[in-house]
Amino acid sequence: MHDKTPDAGRLQHLRRAHLAKGDPVPLPITLASTFHLPGEPGGVHHYGRTDNPTWEAAEEALAFLEGAACVAFPSGMAAISAVIFALLKSGDRLLLPSDGYYTPRVLAERFLAGFGIAVDYRPTRSFLDGGFDGYRMVYIETPSNPGLDVCDIRAVADAAHAAGAIVVADNTTMTPFGQRPLALGVDILLSADTKAPNGHSDVLFGHVASADESIIAAIRQWRTLSGAIPGPFEAWLLHRGLETLELRFDRMCSSAQAIAERLASSGLAGEVRYPGLPGDPSHALASRQMLRYGSLIGLTLAGAEQAEAFIDGCALLQPATSFGSVHSSAERRARWGDAVAPGFVRLSIGCEPTQELWEAIDSALRAAG
Ligand SMILES: *Cc1c(COP(=O)(O)O)cnc(C)c1O
Repeated sequence: MHDKTPDAGRLQHLRRAHLAKGDPVPLPITLASTFHLPGEPGGVHHYGRTDNPTWEAAEEALAFLEGAACVAFPSGMAAISAVIFALLKSGDRLLLPSDGYYTPRVLAERFLAGFGIAVDYRPTRSFLDGGFDGYRMVYIETPSNPGLDVCDIRAVADAAHAAGAIVVADNTTMTPFGQRPLALGVDILLSADTKAPNGHSDVLFGHVASADESIIAAIRQWRTLSGAIPGPFEAWLLHRGLETLELRFDRMCSSAQAIAERLASSGLAGEVRYPGLPGDPSHALASRQMLRYGSLIGLTLAGAEQAEAFIDGCALLQPATSFGSVHSSAERRARWGDAVAPGFVRLSIGCEPTQELWEAIDSALRAAG
């Protein structure tokens, strides 16, 4: 399992090992629901809900990046649902972050109590406080979305394992090029590949990764039986996106560092949160456990009005939810009910040239007052 940056060069050439003379170099899309299947089934593709060559290519690339087996899903939430519903049962207790992506909390509140699964919540920054006795599953998201607090992945994994829990990490904000939770001891990694891994705001996708074969078998069985399968075209787009992930994420993180530093020293953006800023509460731990500091920046402008004027007035910021795209985007998270100030803006830095992006952000901030 990797504890360093995946080898992006080898990723570009993974398919070569499967090619016979005359085969297309880029991945073909297989849209089949049925496969030629005379006689006994087994050892080959048999039906589109069980397996598909295009998903398998996407899973092979994801597994190469994660250093562990991967199961692909049609969205990040489908991956999260698979982990929860395939691995928990009545009587179990689940610990979720109180400040992470909000949909897993809504899912838990709406459905888990009815299945006899208890759920507790804890802030990412003090996630170790209180220990993990009694939990069957401990789920972390670091840095948390949108607040960008971090928790110590190895310390959580060690303490949760000592208490008998399975440890899950949502690594969406960092990608395999920014952080390696499996190498830091978690049992299951999941990611919304809708964000930077696809990177072009045109696909929803997700995956679950684990080195534990029984976990992967259960997750795969959940996918086949629940029918939560990715579409071949989406798998093809994700596969294509992964080929440029290292290039895009490198630009995104470098630009985010430069822009966060300039925002912090400009005095125009209130409190600036970015794990790569030496004064940030996440900085020391982020420097120990992350390979990059990521592409998200948190700003707190004076109020909702200033925040909306900034977002709408910036020529190089797409007002949109979600993050990780080639296009920089921004949104005021309080509009979704996140526990943040009304003027809190989550900036997602994309692939525009750094200086041009900075000039657009700077002038929009000045105009928004
Ligand atoms: C977006 C996101 C998800 C959900 O992904 P979808 O593809 O929208 O279902 C899960 N976790 C995090 C941290 C996210 O940002």
